[in-house]
Amino acid sequence: MEWIERAPAKINLTLDVLYKREDGYHELEMIMSSIDLADHLTFTPIEENRIEVYTNKAFLPVDKRNHVHQAIRLVKEQFQIDSGMLVEIDKQIPVAAGLGGGSTDAAATLRALNGIWDLNLNREELIDLGMQIGTDVPYSMVGGTAFVSGRGENVRPIKPMPACWVVLAKPKISVSTKTIFKALEVAQLENYEPQSRIVEAAIEAEDYEEMVRHLSNALEVVTFQRHPYLKNIKERMIRYGMDGVTMSGSGPTILGFSRNYSRAKRVYNSLRGFCEEVYIARTIK
Ligand code: ATP
Repeated sequence: MEWIERAPAKINLTLDVLYKREDGYHELEMIMSSIDLADHLTFTPIEENRIEVYTNKAFLPVDKRNHVHQAIRLVKEQFQIDSGMLVEIDKQIPVAAGLGGGSTDAAATLRALNGIWDLNLNREELIDLGMQIGTDVPYSMVGGTAFVSGRGENVRPIKPMPACWVVLAKPKISVSTKTIFKALEVAQLENYEPQSRIVEAAIEAEDYEEMVRHLSNALEVVTFQRHPYLKNIKERMIRYGMDGVTMSGSGPTILGFSRNYSRAKRVYNSLRGFCEEVYIARTIK
């Protein structure tokens, strides 16, 4: 028996850092949405008590550092399951890019195991399990367009964002989310105005122009300082006529939004000359 799951990437329309909490984590508000750039995972249950993970990307760890491996181990321990699982990850989402690739794979794994091993877990129980793997996993369990807050554990679905094309530019640098948050100084937030509630209202009003006007990411200043080249990509996208441009997660992927396919395609073609990985995707509900 084989079980196949699709694991879509997420994009940030906003990422507001409200303040640093006493426990050292940052209090966040974000609008996230799913796009049709996705990994595909194939699960095959095996009788032996083993976890085997394979992937088409040689640099990706397949041992307990892999989020899929962690999700299977967590479920096996929690529900005392002594058979095993073999998983093949067809990775299409760029890694360490701010697109939640590891988290969406973990969420897909929890969905698959819930079905394969008849766990009968409801959405809240799956979200609780997801939180133990990573802070973006709860959102990935829900998907679509959502208002996400806290460290990422509070996920409130909202109206789907207005449909559009998204051009994604991911230069050949990997960014560690932990490092970027560590480098973020409270002083850098003084002039930062949170935009998530404004973007939420724009989405609820189906006002695309207002939505793209308020795309925003509080971490841009830190990631751009370390990789000034990203600012160049952002400015280029604006010059090429994208309706709105922002960074996803802690970067380095830069997102450009357009309702017009031929414009998005033109920008995609122009960027391919000097950026390592460029994608064109659609928003999905
Ligand atoms: P984060 O915000 O958590 O850093 P991201 O979207 O920027 O997420 P990911 O693609 O999730 O980045 O990769 C982050 C790290 O997780 C990488 O160092 C990668 O090696 C590790 N990782 C573990 N499992 C996976 C997986 N299944 N897919 C992608 N990365 C994974």
